[in-house]
Amino acid sequence: MKDITVLHDHLDGGLRANTIIELANNLNIELPTKGEHQLEKWFFENISSQKNQVFNKFELTISIMQDSESLQRIAFEAVEDLRRDNISTGELRYAPLQHLRKGLTPQEVVEAVSMGLSNGMKKFGGNFKSILCAMRQNNDSLQVADLAIKNYSIGVVGFDLAGPEFGHPPSKHIEACQKINDSNIGLTIHAGEAAEFSYIEDAVLNCKAKRIGHGWQIIEGCNDNGDTFSPNTETSEYIHENQIPLEICISSNVKSGASNVSLDNHPAVKLLRSGFNVTLNPDNRLMASTTLSREYEIAKQFMSLTEDEESKLLDNAKNSTFA
Ligand SMILES: [Zn+2]
Repeated sequence: MKDITVLHDHLDGGLRANTIIELANNLNIELPTKGEHQLEKWFFENISSQKNQVFNKFELTISIMQDSESLQRIAFEAVEDLRRDNISTGELRYAPLQHLRKGLTPQEVVEAVSMGLSNGMKKFGGNFKSILCAMRQNNDSLQVADLAIKNYSIGVVGFDLAGPEFGHPPSKHIEACQKINDSNIGLTIHAGEAAEFSYIEDAVLNCKAKRIGHGWQIIEGCNDNGDTFSPNTETSEYIHENQIPLEICISSNVKSGASNVSLDNHPAVKLLRSGFNVTLNPDNRLMASTTLSREYEIAKQFMSLTEDEESKLLDNAKNSTFA
């Protein structure tokens, strides 16, 4: 049995369509379409992050995640779904301050999600922790950092900067990053998904991120040798040498329309062959209509991933957890 690990999976991007329908009905929230499959299709279509459409999709999922019961249920179901996909270890991320609209405190949000994960593990097994995201367009990252540090004992193992990249470089949140780096919480930062290489540089050199969310634009800091890439900047060399894990999400990158990357030219496996610490992840299972096993299938089908390379990807992920 393979040991399968997921490092980059958003709780608010991986809900079941059925659950959304049920919770929305209870809350009298109007949905853009009726029926499970139509709703799945709606989430999958037109999610360009350049036009911020992807964030509109999150607006809907987040609107039904505003009470303890719903948060617990969604975390519980995430564990069930990941276990069904044969995942044994995972770090699920969410932005706690986006779930306060109905009066929950940040602490209550974290407790609800932790409880859901813990109940899920009791029933389905596995080892699932959480990562708290600060939204990079806001000014409350220090509060999220404190919340993460405070909740290490109930399964929070990481801190992340999420949200629209452009115009919001990681070092805007340098204080929160420093605080995290002085604690036992791991620092990962979305960088080089939509925005260019300089955002990766900023995340790694200035903020000292221990992992990079997406990060595939690192190819801008490399020479393309045909079959491999070789680092040609201080940052890409640093990432290569120190084996900073790249949390690569193929389907999500292709689907988000934030760049011209396609299944045929996605550099995930080529970066792996070049000695970078590549890991595969689903990002948003609902919006990208994917699963982790599907991501591995895509790498085999479109990038000729070999069995040895698959084992390497699995090992990379297993060895890159914050827990
Ligand atoms: Zn992400």
